[in-house]
Amino acid sequence: MFILEGVSKRYGALQALHPLSLTLPKGATTVLIGPSGCGKSTLLRLLNGLAKPDTGRILFDGQPLPEDGDALLAVRQRVGYALQGGGLFPHLTGAQNVTLMARHLRWPEARIRERQGVLMDLTRFPADALERFPGQLSGGQRQRVALMRALMLDPDVLLLDEPLGALDPLVRHDLQADLRGIFERLKKTVVLVTHDLAEAAWLGDGIVLMRDGQVVQQGTLEDLEARP
Ligand code: ADP
Ligand code: ADP
Repeated sequence: MFILEGVSKRYGALQALHPLSLTLPKGATTVLIGPSGCGKSTLLRLLNGLAKPDTGRILFDGQPLPEDGDALLAVRQRVGYALQGGGLFPHLTGAQNVTLMARHLRWPEARIRERQGVLMDLTRFPADALERFPGQLSGGQRQRVALMRALMLDPDVLLLDEPLGALDPLVRHDLQADLRGIFERLKKTVVLVTHDLAEAAWLGDGIVLMRDGQVVQQGTLEDLEARP
């Protein structure tokens, strides 16, 4: 779904990503794992065009990722993105957060309602809670709302930046189990960031191990364990 060729990114003097090449297969869940600051979020932002690589190129579904304009917006609609911490707008209710893009695109109300219903079933989210503001929701609920928002337009790709970060262990366990079920049902291309190996093993078809802005290893968990 994504092919990266010699992609690098720097912020001023800081080389956040050294030139790296990577293939993210269609319909599979790829987990980016590595310590804080190794470039995982930067890589996610490059994948949906929020950040531009300094070198190299990114192919999305066989085509170079557009630089800007309507072509880039069209790609963004096919690439759902849930930021670290959810990134919900605090002054909007859960429902307003979830449906924001669909309203912007002037979907008919009936279609919005229908899609919202599908997503609430999928994420096992109670309808009344969707009328609350993010500040009135639990951490786990906020993550589910962020997931619904990322899925609203039925994208081909789902980018999730630490969807299980900062949750207490029980909530984390529930959401982790639900996420795996959701990935299996949707069969979308998922790229998920974590720094937890158990989570990567549970959720990932493939694992990309990163350190200091570089890909150290890529493969299945068995591949990674087999190597020194
Ligand atoms: P992570 O924990 O994934 O590294 P951060 O909390 O570092 O995420 O980053 C959150 C946001 O702050 C991102 O949008 C990122 O671009 C920005 N950011 C991170 N580090 C810096 C920095 N040193 N200077 C400016 N912005 C930064
Ligand atoms: P990770 O997601 O693995 O924690 P990030 O991609 O957020 O790593 O960050 C990689 C490095 O780039 C870190 O050193 C971070 O502080 C820095 N960084 C990230 N975003 C920015 C930014 N917008 N401006 C400056 N530095 C940034």
